[in-house]
Amino acid sequence: MDGSTPESATDVPTPRAGYQGEPGSFSARAAARAGRPVAHATFDRLLRALLAGEIDVAVLPAATHGAGPLVEPLEALARVLEAAAVPLEVREEIAVPVRLVLAAPPGVAEEDVREIHSQPPVLRQCARLLARRDAVPVETHDTAFAARRVAELGGARAAVCSEEAALEAGLVVLEEDVSDVKPNATRFWSVALRSEAEPAIRALLFSGPRLAAALHDAGAEILMLPGRPGASVGGFATVPAGALAKAAGLAAKAGEALVWLGPAPDHVPPPRLREAPRATEVRAATVVTAGAFAVGGGRRAVIAGPCAVESPEQAMRLARAVARAGATALRGGVFKPRTSPTAFQGHGLTALRWLREAGDAVGLPIVTEVMAPAQVEPVARVADVLQIGARNCQNYDLLREAGAAGRPVMLKRGFGTTIEEWLSAAEYILTAGCRDVLLCERGIRTFERATRGTLDLGGLLAARSLTHLPLLADPSHAAGRRELVPGLARAAWGAGVDGLMIEVHDAPESALCDGPQALLPDDLEMLLDEFGLLPGRTGSVERVRRAIDAVDSSIAALAARRLELCRRVAEVKKATGRPIRDEAREATVRERFAETLGKDATKAAGLADALIALGLEAEGWEGDATRR
Ligand code: PEP
Ligand code: MN
Repeated sequence: MDGSTPESATDVPTPRAGYQGEPGSFSARAAARAGRPVAHATFDRLLRALLAGEIDVAVLPAATHGAGPLVEPLEALARVLEAAAVPLEVREEIAVPVRLVLAAPPGVAEEDVREIHSQPPVLRQCARLLARRDAVPVETHDTAFAARRVAELGGARAAVCSEEAALEAGLVVLEEDVSDVKPNATRFWSVALRSEAEPAIRALLFSGPRLAAALHDAGAEILMLPGRPGASVGGFATVPAGALAKAAGLAAKAGEALVWLGPAPDHVPPPRLREAPRATEVRAATVVTAGAFAVGGGRRAVIAGPCAVESPEQAMRLARAVARAGATALRGGVFKPRTSPTAFQGHGLTALRWLREAGDAVGLPIVTEVMAPAQVEPVARVADVLQIGARNCQNYDLLREAGAAGRPVMLKRGFGTTIEEWLSAAEYILTAGCRDVLLCERGIRTFERATRGTLDLGGLLAARSLTHLPLLADPSHAAGRRELVPGLARAAWGAGVDGLMIEVHDAPESALCDGPQALLPDDLEMLLDEFGLLPGRTGSVERVRRAIDAVDSSIAALAARRLELCRRVAEVKKATGRPIRDEAREATVRERFAETLGKDATKAAGLADALIALGLEAEGWEGDATRR
């Protein structure tokens, strides 16, 4: 009878149900429950027949009870879904109880069996049998074929298959029920082109691990596939009816690639935005810490180091130099975003180890850039702070990935990004779970060509009143020229930034990246002295003395100014007829010194006394200044 001939009085044709394998196999049994079985040699041929309309449904084994997903058929299905925009659906699931027997040609004794033939997933379920028999597993594409093959070859071979297939092939059953999985069943999916009717199973193919975890938590069954060359790791999920809307919402939020088998649920609840943390929330300043490094809420930081990590020696030298200068974190690029694809691209994860060792040697946390989602996990395992570069400021996949990595993230402002867009980009990181976000202005692109970028201090000040997140400035990339860096750094520091990022190199002329904008270590030292940062503990006595000298110069200059002011106040007092000496005022001055110097109050009193005496002298007081 022709398959298209109506068979019943109601004139409904029996569907043609394709399967992979041979008559007598479990797949043939499953296909028989979906329609008239039609055999195909491979899963790919089976699915091609479905797409070509040669069969009405393809019956694929999807999972075994206890032994999980069946990789070969699911991968074939994934390939079709990825390659063709054909809407497929999983119409129903068919569970076929599986009783596997060990069967051999007549005359072969059980203890003589040296080879056991069957399908890979079946062999995996018979590990105990294989071990007990000390037999070599031989893979075939189908259990019924294994039986026929063993019958043909003869000798000390056996097959694991259904009893029916064994008898069909003329084999003798040596042992019954040989699977380790009991009770054993294979679950088949009948896959068809999408129809009007609501399918019984809602399945989807997903690409990323985040979605897998979220769907699993929502109650979906996950059938993971191992990574395939050229494809992202993923798998299938079957979603219970009650969790459809939730799954659709999760899928929309995760932003990972997915294909619904069957129609996607129409009601997708919008993500609950109220719960998303805002960069603009009115709250206490966020203080970001990483080891001894702290920035925000009055804590000020300087991140310094080379543009790119070039060698272990260079990383170590510059780590020592920036620590000595007083920097509070070490930077260094290992993945470099370069304008030209032929420019040095960074030494990658190897260089990250050099940077880590250098940071550890001087006790500084390390900051490095990630350019791609795939870099986030390996970099976050090693680095203390992840940097997102200007070019990736609005790369939302990267922002989400970095935000989920469990490390603080420093987001550079894109050179064409408004303050509002920059803060929104930061919210992607916050929403992904990271509360420790640092914002770094690094120069925007304007009409000006005299500098590499234009350091937008106005924008930074505007951002200050909008966000609780720490704000940093990077004068190096903004200037592009070493000689402009200290001035821009002072301007930003004076404007009240929470921190600076500064590029440093000790041989800028041979630097592999951004040499012209790198400060020399000595220049960094002088600059950080001006900002009152303490030199690192690993520095030399000379280095600390230089910082003391810088402080002394400031004190001397301030003392001179104080004397000048004393002379000025004396003039005003004379003109208004007030007495030169005012002991209540002197007490206030002493208190101020005692307050600032705290535990050194006696010394503070001495310093205050000396200044007051000098002041009185400058004011022309001729009495005994030490008399109170
Ligand atoms: C860097 O910090 O080395 C860098 C590439 O910065 P930006 O992304 O600001 O250009
Ligand atoms: Mn750089």
